[in-house]
Amino acid sequence: MSSMFSQIPGIRFGFGHKTALMPESLHPFRASMPEKKQVHGTRICDVTEAGEHCGDADALYTRHSGILLTVLTADCLPVLFSRRDGQRIAVAHAGWRGLIDGILERTAACIARDDDLAHWHAIIGPAAAPCCYEVDEALYARFCQELPYAQSLIAPRPRYLDLAAIARAKLLEMGFASAETTGQCTICTPESDSAAVNHFRYTSFRRNTHRRERNPSHPGIKGRNQYSGLVILP
Ligand SMILES: [Zn+2]
Repeated sequence: MSSMFSQIPGIRFGFGHKTALMPESLHPFRASMPEKKQVHGTRICDVTEAGEHCGDADALYTRHSGILLTVLTADCLPVLFSRRDGQRIAVAHAGWRGLIDGILERTAACIARDDDLAHWHAIIGPAAAPCCYEVDEALYARFCQELPYAQSLIAPRPRYLDLAAIARAKLLEMGFASAETTGQCTICTPESDSAAVNHFRYTSFRRNTHRRERNPSHPGIKGRNQYSGLVILP
């Protein structure tokens, strides 16, 4: 991983995968995680204490150290945010619905209450990528209508959405200093250890749904999505 983001002092961040749903480096802070229910909505919670009950929320913000902010994903975008001095952080869960409805804009508005977005960096983690994320004509049309620049980012074939590129364009347009993508696809990235029981690196809702369409007895993935998150080190 390149990264403006990895050069930020005083934070620790990571992206989980199938065999380590929460990155090991974040485990020491697990007990501090706020409780929240992700609903593909646009509400952001300003967290002030460890273990806080946030209710329905798809984004979290804090200026307090030692509180691990995470989102759970299985094809949606996990987006991590940090001030360049590592003194304030945020995290957002953005699927296609959140992107259209404005979860990133709401997160930016929360940050911009008392700061300049130019002081902030963002990084977008593993998610459904355009190699695999085919959508129907109606959703494609909706993206083109509501996010005019999206049309040029739906590539390389028609109707394959590049959620990360759309999010990145939004973030840069809003004024964030940088917005990186890790590029890994949750649907098709293979497990690097060829002996692994799991053939794929990430939990994928889409891949799982397609399997269940073929075999209704295939187990669901409830509770097994991967965590992405970050914390201001105490
Ligand atoms: Zn793929």
